[in-house]
Formats: sequence, structure tokens, C-alpha cells
Amino acid sequence: MSSQPAKLVVQKFGGSSLGEAARIRRVAQRIARARATGADLVVVVSAMGDTTDELLQLAAAITDDPDARELDMLLATGEHQSATLVSMALHALGVRAISLTGAQAGITTDASHGRARIANVEPRRVRRELDNGNVVIVAGFQGQRQGSADEDGGPGETTTLGRGGSDTTAVALAAALRAGRCQIFTDVRGIYTADPRLVPAARQLPVIGYEEMLELAQQGAQVMQVRAVELGWINDVEIEVLSSFEDAPGTLIREDPLVEQRNKVRGLAHDRNVAKVTLLAVPDRPGIARNVFGPLADAGVIVDMIVQNVGHDGATDISFTVPRVDLAKAEKVLQPVVGEMGARGITTDATVAKVSIVGAGLHNAPGYAARMFGTLADAGVNIEMISTSEVRITCVIGESGLSKALESLHAAFELERPDPVDAAALAAG
Ligand code: ADP
Ligand code: ASP
Ligand code: MG
Repeated sequence: MSSQPAKLVVQKFGGSSLGEAARIRRVAQRIARARATGADLVVVVSAMGDTTDELLQLAAAITDDPDARELDMLLATGEHQSATLVSMALHALGVRAISLTGAQAGITTDASHGRARIANVEPRRVRRELDNGNVVIVAGFQGQRQGSADEDGGPGETTTLGRGGSDTTAVALAAALRAGRCQIFTDVRGIYTADPRLVPAARQLPVIGYEEMLELAQQGAQVMQVRAVELGWINDVEIEVLSSFEDAPGTLIREDPLVEQRNKVRGLAHDRNVAKVTLLAVPDRPGIARNVFGPLADAGVIVDMIVQNVGHDGATDISFTVPRVDLAKAEKVLQPVVGEMGARGITTDATVAKVSIVGAGLHNAPGYAARMFGTLADAGVNIEMISTSEVRITCVIGESGLSKALESLHAAFELERPDPVDAAALAAG
């Protein structure tokens, strides 16, 4: 019989929690304490500290255009390293443990190297190791391309899940193993009303619903990978985000039935990985948008906000945002297009940022957009672009105004004040 799901806990430790040997030993002690309570444990680990960035820099020092397959083979080693070290640290404490790669843990993905999506999880080996009495340490952020195992059953192609992907490994394993809990240990105490590193007044939330957490993540709150929140939502996995350095209550991400009664603005998110591109005096005729955005899509550049100004004298300006990391690629793709369609030119700005207010009740609450724009105006922050959805309002601003924008929005929407619904729940214990 396999292990009982109820006493099975999936834990994930992020890179900053594993930055050096001493931290790895502390994480191992924490795992050992959880194990001593009788829990069966699957522990997902990220690469140590800045390892993933360092590996990317190494590849960039070799070539401008690293092969996607080789890059994934390289990046996956970061998580192999930390998984083995955590396992050894547990052995040193007398705790039985074994490290597994993503593929050994049964994680298969689609074929998109560098941003693969998990296609399936068959954790037979994980279950077997649990039944053998091991704590199972799984290298996060990676899987094996579906259908790539060779005919002899040998290992297939390694893929990685995109930055922050270990969160997704943890939630996917928790869903597949029907674990009682999925705990994401990180370098802050939980989910806050804004990034606590930028907004000192940010307040920790006791609970946040999947929809609002998904939007915060999509708008740049890196504390959880977007795909991890989606998988949690689809599979109804309750996720607890908590500190790996101190014993303090964390934040629960789960279905939030009280969402309608809460403050309409639940939190702020920001994103610096943004650049603005403007095509000047583009001829105003059918097919132009296709000529611009088709080649960008073919090059794999994700275009976010798009603004086309009112045309005059048969021409119009088109502005849009792309991830800052893709700006050089976007320019290279667009230079010939600009010439072909007879536009006046192209300008770019890599010093912009996005700031968003997020809340599930925003769509039926008038006045929030005006309050956001007024607050930014009072703070002397110029708005360059605006976009809205049912659950957020986003402005593109100059990056130098970001801290000021976040602090004034946090104050204007009274986010430092506990939500009355949360306060009542906390008082009730
Ligand atoms: P890990 O290495 O554990 O995966 P990350 O760096 O990916 O950690 O995510 C944690 C960081 O997310 C925090 O240090 C914090 O600066 C940032 N962050 C951004 N927005 C938020 C938010 N709303 N609540 C908590 N942390 C946030
Ligand atoms: N190590 C990977 C990254 O830095 C995955 C993760 O940390 O979740 O993005
Ligand atoms: Mg992370």
C-alpha cells in the first residue's frame, strides 16, 4: 500500500534559502523536525542562491545564441547540485533521504525548452522511495520532454520550466500525490500587499484567493510562479507560503469565499522586466498590425500592452511593451519591417516599469481607476500607458518613479490597514 496522502507534505525551498552550506544544513534541520512528527515528506529544491543567473551568464560568455537544449541541460544542473547536498545534509542528521532529478520523479513536459509546461506527473518512483522510508528530495524547475525517452527506455531530453519553476514542480507533485499540504518556504514570511522589499508598509496577508494571487503573479510578484498558482487552482491544492528562516505563520493561497466582502484592492504588483517600443508615423491602412505583430510572434516575443494612437495625415504611432530581456530581439525583427512599410522609425525605452492594483472586486467598483491615476499624478509620476482587466488596472511609468508610485498607491488604497474580514478571522483565532 502506498503512503497515506493525508500525512504527506510537499515542501519547497527557494534559492535564497539554500544560498550556502550553512543554510542547507539549516534547511535540513527544518526538514528533519517535520519528519520527526511522522510526516512523509517530498522536498522540492531550487538551485543555490544565484546559481541559475550565474549559469546563464556563463552560457552568454560563450555564445550570444545558446542552443535551447544545451541551455536546459546546463540550467538543470543547478537544481541537481542542491538536491544532492540537501540529501547529504539529511544523512548527516541520521535521516534517510534520496535525491531525484525531475525526470526520475516522473515529471514530463511539452517540448518548449526554457519555458516548458508540465504535461504529466507519474510519481511511481517517488511513492516507492517514500514507502522505503526516505525523505524524497526532488530537483525543481525541470522535467523530461514527453515521448523523448529512447527506445531502450533510457532517459529522455531535459527541459526547464521557466524562471521560478520550482514552485510549479512543488504544486504539481502535491496535486499528483494528493498531498495534505504544499508548503513554499522562501525569504519572506508570506504574501504581502506589495513587495515588502520595496514597500516598507506592506502588510502580510493571512489568506489570498487563487484568482487574486494569479493576477499578482502575472503582473510581476515573483514570490510564486504563475503556472504554480494555476495548477494549484485547477487541482484545488492549498498552498502555504512561509519563511524558511523563522517560525512564523505564513499565507494560505486557496479558494477565498469571502472575496466579495474584502477591500476591493487586495495588493500591488510591479514589473521591471518591461520595455516600451514605439513605431513612428506608421501608414494608417489595413494589415499594418499584422505586419508588425506577426514577425514578433514568430520570433517568440510576447507583446503585452498595445496602444495605437489616433491617426493624422494618413499615419499613426503604435506603442507596445515587450519583456525587457527580449528588447534587442524585437528591435532586430522590426528594423526591416519599419523600412518595408514606410514608417518614420522606431524608438525604444528600456527604463519603464509596470505598476498594477489588483483585486477581484475591481470590475464592479467605479472610481478605482480615477483614484489610481490621481494618486500617481499627485506623486508626480507620469503615466505612459494604461491597461485594465476585470481584476486589475496597470500603468506603465518611468522606472525611476516606481518606488514613489508603489508607496503612494499603497497609502491611497489603505493597504496597510488590516482588512476587516481578515481582522475578524484572526480575532476568532
Ligand atoms: P525563492 O528564492 O524562495 O523562490 P523568490 O525571490 O522567487 O524566492 O520570491 C521571493 C521574493 O518575492 C521576495 O523576496 C519578495 O521580494 C518578492 N515579492 C514580490 N512581490 C511580493 C509579494 N506581494 N509578497 C511577498 N513577496 C513578494
Ligand atoms: N532556479 C530557478 C530560477 O532561478 C528555478 C527556481 O528558483 O524556482 O529561476
Ligand atoms: Mg522563486
